[in-house]
Amino acid sequence: MVEGPRSNMFYASTANLLHWRQRCTSVVMIDSFDANDAGGRAAAETLSVGTVVVLSVDDLAFLIAKLSEIGYEVKGPVVRSGAIVPGALRGVADLPKGVHDEQAPGAYRLVRGEDNRLFDWAVGPSGWKPEFFLPHDEVWRARVDGGNVQLVEIRDARRPLAVVGARPCEAAALEVLDRVFVEGAHRDTRYAERRQNAFVAVVECSSPAATCFCDSMSTGPNIERGFDLALTELDDDDGHRFVARVGSARALAALEGVAPARATKHDLSARDALLEGARLWMVRHLDVSGLAGALARNLEHPRWAEVAERCLSCGNCTLVCPTCFCSDVRDATDLDDEVVRQRTWSSCFSVDHSYLHGGAVRPTTQSRYRQWMTHKLSSWWDQFDTTGCVGCGRCIAWCPVGIDITEEASAIVRSDGAIAVSPPSVRSRS
Ligand code: SF4
Ligand code: SF4
Repeated sequence: MVEGPRSNMFYASTANLLHWRQRCTSVVMIDSFDANDAGGRAAAETLSVGTVVVLSVDDLAFLIAKLSEIGYEVKGPVVRSGAIVPGALRGVADLPKGVHDEQAPGAYRLVRGEDNRLFDWAVGPSGWKPEFFLPHDEVWRARVDGGNVQLVEIRDARRPLAVVGARPCEAAALEVLDRVFVEGAHRDTRYAERRQNAFVAVVECSSPAATCFCDSMSTGPNIERGFDLALTELDDDDGHRFVARVGSARALAALEGVAPARATKHDLSARDALLEGARLWMVRHLDVSGLAGALARNLEHPRWAEVAERCLSCGNCTLVCPTCFCSDVRDATDLDDEVVRQRTWSSCFSVDHSYLHGGAVRPTTQSRYRQWMTHKLSSWWDQFDTTGCVGCGRCIAWCPVGIDITEEASAIVRSDGAIAVSPPSVRSRS
């Protein structure tokens, strides 16, 4: 065992998961990419966007080194303090080899296996949000110089980011944040620049946790868009390797110097079987049809009071969520000649976050939990034309009292129409 920082509730066993993999035979085909039908393993002649190839572990090591060499700051999943979190990646040795996660409501722990897999876990407590939307950031800085106020431009001095090992749900979460920060009315130029320059290599998910429900949200366990390179890790009789789909010219540049093999039918069917196994393994589901409307119609549902009895209003769910974007801004001065406007992550679970001249709009835990969940699953659609939840399950695992968003939303939908009392101002959605 690596470390177990949380409680020891029910865990899905790794042995069961491996059992699923062995049994699984149905496939989800790669439709939109070319693949070699010859069945043999041959060197790829020319790489192009859309090519499916097979990369070895050495090729992955080459890719990490090459990304660094061409100017990226390379980050990927690493083990820190008993959790898998984003960290600096100098090579394959930094990846969590043989490490697996076990998650349940209110529980997360890592276990070490005897295998060589590098990505055989679900998600850690942090997605990639903090790399693009900084927990603490400067919005602007002003200086008094010779009696004039001068605005100082804040520049992002970091190198462009290369992520190796994001999950499909995490790539989907970044697309949700793009809607907020790039495509909305108020463009965040530094977020946009960082995103635009980033290289994202996604590893499709073969080991969902018991808290995952990405299949319900159509954000995993496979990925179809939003990546430079999409990898699926295989480790069977044909060896430890990655089925890789080239998604951009950037990936072509990063793979220059690699001579990957073309993917065979066996590689593709092994990849598809693995992903189908992951889909079947997922135990949590959320029926999203009509969900937004049902939540909006049930703002006075008694379930909000019930969940508030358990909710600590701690904000953990918002901190770990890869799409939550609440922030506060503050001005700080050195009382001499400089003032800085700072932006810091905030949470709708904080009373102060709803403070409007004279008082808090959401003074109770009930109103704050309702705000969080209805925004995620309902009014986010009105604002950004997308859901605010990608089904990563982090808010379930990292809630200290194990409150489960799928359970709470489903309970309200189940009784929609039986108990509902809707304020007249709430727009009804289908
Ligand atoms: S609401 Fe929960 S499950 Fe949905 S994206 Fe946020 S942390 Fe993940
Ligand atoms: S739902 Fe859980 S994590 Fe979120 S504020 Fe309440 S107690 Fe904290």
